[in-house]
Amino acid sequence: MRAMVLDQPGRPLRVTDLPEPEPGPGQIKLAVKTCGVCRTDLHIYDDELQGSSKLPLVMGHQIVGEVVAIGEGAERFELGERVGVPWLGWADGTCRYCREGRENLCENAQFTGYDIDGGYAEFTVAAEDFCFPIPALYSDAEAAPLLCAGLIGYRALRLVGEAERIGFYGFGSSAHILCQVAVHEGRRVFAFTRDGDTDGQAFAGSLGAEWAGGSSELPPEELDGAIVFAAVGPLMVQALKASARGARVISAGIHMSEIPAFSYDLLWEERTLGSVANLTRADGEDLLRIAPQVPVRAAVTTYPLEDAQAALEDARRGRIEGSAVLVVSA
Ligand SMILES: [Zn+2]
Ligand SMILES: [Zn+2]
Repeated sequence: MRAMVLDQPGRPLRVTDLPEPEPGPGQIKLAVKTCGVCRTDLHIYDDELQGSSKLPLVMGHQIVGEVVAIGEGAERFELGERVGVPWLGWADGTCRYCREGRENLCENAQFTGYDIDGGYAEFTVAAEDFCFPIPALYSDAEAAPLLCAGLIGYRALRLVGEAERIGFYGFGSSAHILCQVAVHEGRRVFAFTRDGDTDGQAFAGSLGAEWAGGSSELPPEELDGAIVFAAVGPLMVQALKASARGARVISAGIHMSEIPAFSYDLLWEERTLGSVANLTRADGEDLLRIAPQVPVRAAVTTYPLEDAQAALEDARRGRIEGSAVLVVSA
């Protein structure tokens, strides 16, 4: 099968002919239709994460595929069914976090496109218990970004609590989906882009943001909560400066540049800084139930599988409005 393989961090992905993976017990084999490109893929590519991935590696953890083979004991999905594979590829179910319903923090978790080969390939295998059926409303390309940008963003939105005035710092793949969910929930969205990115600000406005400006600006009102999607540590401090008493400021990324020191005055009055890590299956089920009701529409820019490197570089430069998606088979 055709696959785009990462041999070493920082080295261009290589078009490779790999043997097709076959499903083990509890797994399904998917013919990959589309695979979303995530900011995390760039962190893996740049070797910025704490652990280390398998190498060589097939990246990609927002996979939409069709079931083409079923492993021993697997019975959730039928042949031909359309299935999504997210970042959380497997959790042990037995560690203290899993037992408390916090499988996103599992000590032995395996992540798709990191510990397990992912979707930058014609075929992949996945543990069926960690896959989701895809709502019929969505095309293969439109469904892909829901699987990480959407549902880890959704987890971040829940962590912000009931905030009415919510700030989104970095208006890319994840924020453009979550903006629609937040507005649907009756929240008021304030969108922050790179300074001077008037196209990005107009895009945020078109999705229901009440105000959009550059990230060095202060919003016209204080924020009751904020999600920092951009991997830029100083934005955590900037979001605190914009925050009302009791606000929660959540980083939605897996990696961020260093957060500079700041005065305690910014944190005082029960403001909170926090992070979101991974997802639980319940997060995925919730978002995929809610998304068609909103209805969330993902803006996608598609690339053929062989152009995965170009998609990564466009994502790095913020050239994409919405989400980059690899189309593997039509
Ligand atoms: Zn566990
Ligand atoms: Zn991701």
